Amino acid sequence: MYDVLIIGAGPAGTTAAKHTAEKGLDTLLIEKQKLPRKKPCAGLVSQRALNSLEFEIPKHLIKRYCYGTRIKYKNHVLESKLDRPVGILVSRDEFDYYLSQQATKKGAEILDNTSVNSVNAENDYVAVNTTKGLFKARIVIGADGVNSICARYVRSGSETNRNAFSLISEVPASIEYINNKYLDITEVDFGRVKNGYFWTFPKDNHISVGLGLFDNSSESKPLKTYYDYIKDQYFDYLKPRGHFIPIGGYKRDVHSDRVILVGDAAGFVDAFLGEGISYAIMSGKIAANTVIEAFEENDFSEDKFSTYLTRCEDVFGNNLKYSLIFSKFFYSFPNIFATMLTSSELMLNKALLVVKGESEYKQFISWLLPRFPYYILKILKANV
Ligand SMILES: Cc1cc2nc3c(=O)[nH]c(=O)nc-3n(C[C@H](O)[C@H](O)[C@H](O)COP(=O)(O)OP(=O)(O)OC[C@H]3O[C@@H](n4cnc5c(N)ncnc54)[C@H](O)[C@@H]3O)c2cc1C
Repeated sequence: MYDVLIIGAGPAGTTAAKHTAEKGLDTLLIEKQKLPRKKPCAGLVSQRALNSLEFEIPKHLIKRYCYGTRIKYKNHVLESKLDRPVGILVSRDEFDYYLSQQATKKGAEILDNTSVNSVNAENDYVAVNTTKGLFKARIVIGADGVNSICARYVRSGSETNRNAFSLISEVPASIEYINNKYLDITEVDFGRVKNGYFWTFPKDNHISVGLGLFDNSSESKPLKTYYDYIKDQYFDYLKPRGHFIPIGGYKRDVHSDRVILVGDAAGFVDAFLGEGISYAIMSGKIAANTVIEAFEENDFSEDKFSTYLTRCEDVFGNNLKYSLIFSKFFYSFPNIFATMLTSSELMLNKALLVVKGESEYKQFISWLLPRFPYYILKILKANV
């Protein structure tokens, strides 16, 4: 019997495994795919995410530093950079594998190529059924992403309306082309779809091109919309892959007796942009600390596990809640908000600080509210 069994080797699971193993808990991490595994992702690891890791990311894993962004909305374009990086751009297979190596270094055992079929809590352990047999652990951490089996065990009800849909492909490009067009900035276009945006994020020898839709009903033919965009950008045709991303900020059950959900499985993702790596790392760490305390105090009660949610809410709950509020306003009235964002460098810089993790949505909204009439007038004047 293991002390803790973690399901999923993304940023949430590997972070949790590193921390529990470091404290001497007998830790097993089970991953469905063979590691290093492919993870479709735009690959922006924000400074907030980097600050949450307690180690440096080696230079060879950093494809580019991201200092800012070029925002587009219809015929408006604005580009802005901070004087320090908003984050780094990585390939998720390499980045996540590096995180898993940090966990094994601390003593965690990793079993990849093994899929978990079910989890079931008994009186004093959890039974985990996998393609390689039955495993038992005192506690399970569900880090198995958006389609989590653990989440289905912990909570009932459909999450369909609380998931964003994305299409993504990696377009090969020369370094010269990437340096000329992007260098150290990303590009985000809010003008091509309702309730979402297109992103083009540069890496070393390719560009991640994606479409994120925060309301699945707003585009009846997302694939066609995606191909139209690719064509207009003169990118090569590549078949994109579709993925769901949880929309954060909603109230969800994130634990039951002896099973704790982290990262995407818990729904901890920025509701406006779909940034989830930082919340995966933070919740992985908080879950690990809750588990470590449970062992130290020999307390595996419901009360003990409910401290996990309270701590997550204290650390980042408000930011997710306000990201959802901002997202609802922004995508309902893009002609106001996206036009504002593409006409004020000051506002864009304030938004970049939120992405970086130096500021929060609540601060951004509090800054914007008293200036709202001024920006509305500015837009109206420009349209006269
Ligand atoms: C297209 C796209 C672009 C994105 N871009 C960004 C971005 O630029 N920046 C950012 O911060 N966030 C981004 N995100 C969100 C980010 O990828 C997630 O929030 C983050 O990966 C969550 O980490 P996690 O560890 O919770 O889950 P994941 O990284 O999804 O890891 C879950 C792991 O669990 C494994 N697993 C699943 N089921 C089982 C099972 N039954 N048994 C065993 N293992 C299982 C999976 O194979 C996977 O390895 C993007 C998401 C998508 C879909």
